[in-house]
Amino acid sequence: MSNSKVNIELLRAYSEINLSNLEHNLGQLQEQLPAMCKVIAVVKADAYGHGAVQVSRHLQRLGIEHFAVASIDEAIELRINQIEGEILVLGYTPIGRREDLIYYHITQALIDESYAEKISKGKGRLRVHIKLDTGMNRLGLRATNLDALMAIYRKENLEITGTFSHLSRADSLCDEDKSFTEYQIKTFYEIIGSLKKNHIEVGKTHLQSSYGIINYPQIKCDLARPGILLYGVSSNPEENIAERLDVRPVLSLRAKVGSIKHVDKGETVGYGNHFKVEKESVIAIVTIGYADGYPRYLSKRGCKVLIRGREVPIIGNVCMDQMIVDVTSLNDIKVGSQVTLIGKDEEAYLSVNQISLLTNTINNETLTGIGQRVKKVYI
Ligand SMILES: *Cc1c(COP(=O)(O)O)cnc(C)c1O
Repeated sequence: MSNSKVNIELLRAYSEINLSNLEHNLGQLQEQLPAMCKVIAVVKADAYGHGAVQVSRHLQRLGIEHFAVASIDEAIELRINQIEGEILVLGYTPIGRREDLIYYHITQALIDESYAEKISKGKGRLRVHIKLDTGMNRLGLRATNLDALMAIYRKENLEITGTFSHLSRADSLCDEDKSFTEYQIKTFYEIIGSLKKNHIEVGKTHLQSSYGIINYPQIKCDLARPGILLYGVSSNPEENIAERLDVRPVLSLRAKVGSIKHVDKGETVGYGNHFKVEKESVIAIVTIGYADGYPRYLSKRGCKVLIRGREVPIIGNVCMDQMIVDVTSLNDIKVGSQVTLIGKDEEAYLSVNQISLLTNTINNETLTGIGQRVKKVYI
């Protein structure tokens, strides 16, 4: 369901979510995977800022039957919005919410031995995937004692539909990281092999997130868990992912020119008197700020935005609700003109990479940081 009826003229700041690009990216990832391997769409953190319900509904229409989120509340939100497939909670759920998990038919990851022990007790059968820690040392069972592990698979009140692990360095292709990832893969398959030899049903296996899919396509699991690449961007802002895989960014971030002013040489702009204009200038006040997830850290770092297909610099500090750009070089802007912070504008293009590079982070954080006040428009 795209809300193409939304009149963007009436919005202050919005992200434009291109569902055909999402579909395209899904196809590209599926092509990397063996034919029998299905995608678990990772839609945690509001689908990396793209809107979990809308993104999941679209993916469901495209045939996706598995979804993964970080929390039970994210899972319930999907369930009450008609997402029907398996919804896996990857992270911790308080044991007190076991009944909710069962009621909403949510699958819980078993995140360590003592958690497995506790959540196996209680009324009804809880559906779970067992997570194995193969070296990341975050979540998962260590599996050092095979008998203890098998005892968990045999718990009456657990229905085990999957077994998985997470690769911690699959994005890096340096020798040390590659051999570590290979060690993780080998460890995973050794444990699966031992379990199977003992006639344990492990359910569906999965190991790869985005970089696991593109860097280790030879892995033959039943499922794979892409997140960031579904949204068409790399994690690392130094990488131009399109050179490796034909994916297209799904999200564009836009705001408006709210006001235009002339300032004289020597005047200062914004909070404090940190930014002094060098010559008579025209400035525009743009309707987006750090409370919308456009980091204040970008102040004075030479970050650009697009207006009428041309790059203009941000000046002064990014404020909570707005920021200021120098538009002296443009003669055709007016109040209400569109400002593009991420995405295409006429022939020009700004990648999310720019923001993440200038704020020393990865694109995952930039995208998930986009604020609640930014409306989502699906195209
Ligand atoms: C977030 C997450 C993913 C998706 O990772 P991407 O790098 O975004 O593809 C997969 N598996 C687990 C366990 C995760 O936490």
